[in-house]
Amino acid sequence: MKDNKIIIAIDGFSSTGKSTIAKELAKSLNYIYVDTGAMYRAVTLYAMQQNYINETHFIQSELINALNNIKLTFTFNKELGFAEMYLNGKNVEKEIRTIEVSRFVSKVAAVSEVRKKLVLEQQEMGKDKGIVMDGRDIGTVVFPDAKLKLFMTASADKRAKRRYKELLDRGDNVSYEDILQNVQERDHIDSTRKDSPLLKAKEAIEFDNSDMGLKEQFERIMSLVKDRI
Ligand code: C5P
Repeated sequence: MKDNKIIIAIDGFSSTGKSTIAKELAKSLNYIYVDTGAMYRAVTLYAMQQNYINETHFIQSELINALNNIKLTFTFNKELGFAEMYLNGKNVEKEIRTIEVSRFVSKVAAVSEVRKKLVLEQQEMGKDKGIVMDGRDIGTVVFPDAKLKLFMTASADKRAKRRYKELLDRGDNVSYEDILQNVQERDHIDSTRKDSPLLKAKEAIEFDNSDMGLKEQFERIMSLVKDRI
């Protein structure tokens, strides 16, 4: 049976352009878009602000005890056309995208208690369907029954170049080598963690977009969507 509103799960490696595709899809279908990476990044920012995590330590127990104090919300920004991440009422969209947050986020995301909290919140957001959600465990854990599952990959070099350009465009002072190292490190931690490792769901359709433009990807994915709604 075909649904008129479905759940689209987009998983894959870091900086594969998942969120760009997800935003475009959500806009065309008039669906909600949820960037679950932003949620893990916001929890990480909180842990950094409280000094639970830095270069030398990670006090997991303190973060776990403080989880109830972390309120995450998405607020739609009409001008931008997508929702922005708020941490305890403050817009943190810019702060969560820094290389500093990227350095710690995979460690924070490996903590089961953190995952449990965020997965529940994500499932609640998708209960009325009509949602495009991107992350690492959406098709495997958050919505194992999603009607369409995509898995995005690209070479580490291509991904790091994209991310590097994004950060430079924003005016951040970063080096390509640091970005490449961070992308590889996050892939490793995300793929090898015990709880909900990054895996391609059995039914997921894989897209290697190393040499595929946005337009081509979008058209291919839209035709998959149309088959299902
Ligand atoms: O998607 P983004 O690169 O912003 O995600 C940042 C990090 O958050 C990932 O490297 C991963 O450690 C974590 N993450 C996760 N599960 C998700 C989304 C993100 O573990 N569903």
